[in-house]
Amino acid sequence: MKKILALSFIIISFQNIFSQETTTRKDSLQGGLRPERTCFDVLRYDLNIKVNPDEKSVVGYNDISFKVVDNTSKIQLDLFDNMQVDSIVFNSEKLNYKREFNAVFINFPTSLKIGTNEKIRFYYSGKPIIAKNAPWDGGFIFTKDGQGKPWVGVACQGTGASLWYPVKDSQSDEPDFGATIKVAVPNGLMEVSNGRLIGSEDLKNGYTRWDWEVKNPINTYSINVSVGDYVSIHENYKGLDLDYYVLRQNEVAAKIHFEEVKPMMDCFQSKFGPYPFASDSYKLVETPYLGMEHQSAVAYGNKYVNGYLGTDRSGTGIGLLFDYIIIHESGHEWFGNNITSKDSADMWIHEGFTCYTENVLLNVNLVTKKGNNT
Ligand SMILES: [Zn+2]
Repeated sequence: MKKILALSFIIISFQNIFSQETTTRKDSLQGGLRPERTCFDVLRYDLNIKVNPDEKSVVGYNDISFKVVDNTSKIQLDLFDNMQVDSIVFNSEKLNYKREFNAVFINFPTSLKIGTNEKIRFYYSGKPIIAKNAPWDGGFIFTKDGQGKPWVGVACQGTGASLWYPVKDSQSDEPDFGATIKVAVPNGLMEVSNGRLIGSEDLKNGYTRWDWEVKNPINTYSINVSVGDYVSIHENYKGLDLDYYVLRQNEVAAKIHFEEVKPMMDCFQSKFGPYPFASDSYKLVETPYLGMEHQSAVAYGNKYVNGYLGTDRSGTGIGLLFDYIIIHESGHEWFGNNITSKDSADMWIHEGFTCYTENVLLNVNLVTKKGNNT
């Protein structure tokens, strides 16, 4: 027995040596909070881009409004190094910048003064990385729906929002006054982002731009783009706007299946407080990947079946009483989006409490089924 234990210890020790990961400069630029990041507080993002599903490309700009928290002449933003920085403009002048991995260090001609509000326009373009296994790795998904129409999504939790747009890519800083997300897509397709649709415009060049506005602070990985041949289903439930954007071919299935949302809302609101983003509405958006907690625009890809893609991961039969993705990703609206950890190393706060919401809902569901509401 002792020999086996000793051997196990040696094997484990070797495994530790070989699996030990070292923190790189690139990691520290992504996860750390240097003065170039803490010297400013983002107030708002105004994103205006075009997505070309054929080229699998993105081009446009992000207007980044921020408050200067410490006098500085240099700030750090982030954009993955496979994407091109076209120019960065401040007060009509192009700024100098230096790239290091996915960080972009931007120099101002004179020091920005503490307490002032500033804005830069960050032009960029490129072909963002394609996800191999969304949503577990980050990247875009360019695919086709069952009718052969383009269907595009992006999931970037963990990998970083800066894989597709220039941003202060840290969970410690959300835009205090929300964001606008304006996305032009080929005519005949619709684009859905977070918040409320404030308009659309035919750009007369084969593209239509869809404009969305988020009024609440939002974590950077939640800011999202979905493109498809969508139809919308609108309901108002007890004063809350519920909007579902689903592929045209799935409209009937969605109308029936998403009836699950109402009892879930009743449960979550009674146990965890009002839905946190009522001014931005609650949405489910059908996506070509399983799901993600995109704030006020929850990504849904569970194929209109209960459980986890129709399977009961609990092995008890209970898992098939509800749609796991609707429940789990919506639970994140309270734990993950309303309460967001400052550092992604503390993501257990998002996942741990959201797993708890699943169990609360399950218990309420079972008690209700027994006819015992006490
Ligand atoms: Zn989760």
